[in-house]
Amino acid sequence: MAEVKNISEEEVWSALENVKDPEIPVISIVEMGMITGVELTSTSKCVVTMTPTFVGCPAIGMMKKDIAEQMTKLGFEEVEVRVDLATSWTSDRMQPEAKRKLEKFGLAPPPSLLADEELSEEVLNRVRCPHCGSTDTTLRSSFGSTLCRAIRFCFHCKQGFEQFKPVQ
Ligand SMILES: [Zn+2]
Repeated sequence: MAEVKNISEEEVWSALENVKDPEIPVISIVEMGMITGVELTSTSKCVVTMTPTFVGCPAIGMMKKDIAEQMTKLGFEEVEVRVDLATSWTSDRMQPEAKRKLEKFGLAPPPSLLADEELSEEVLNRVRCPHCGSTDTTLRSSFGSTLCRAIRFCFHCKQGFEQFKPVQ
């Protein structure tokens, strides 16, 4: 019989870095702030809790499958992926590195919110164009190619771009 390998929580987190949101393939679900918990209940079982970025996100099934696959690869015999209903995802859960990657991907990141700051018109318009960096931009449509994106226009370089919508 094979010996039971001790898998550390650290190894679990780094394996989770391999799971991406299919809508934004450059960013891992860890960088997105979607993983709310990792629990090693025994040497052979792992429970991963995640919160979807948008309720009804169609990609959630795929991500759950990817997580399970990664955990099986690590050596867990049993994997449970739970959707965390107590924690709701906000765009501030995104790591700064994720926002930089989003911008490089051509998608304007959601604005960072100050403590207790409301999503006012002014905050919502604090969006930098990913092409030229100008903040002279305006909302064209609240609905982009996916639920979590909006379409904006940059007055400076006269190009349209998509933004990952802020969520509070
Ligand atoms: Zn621009």
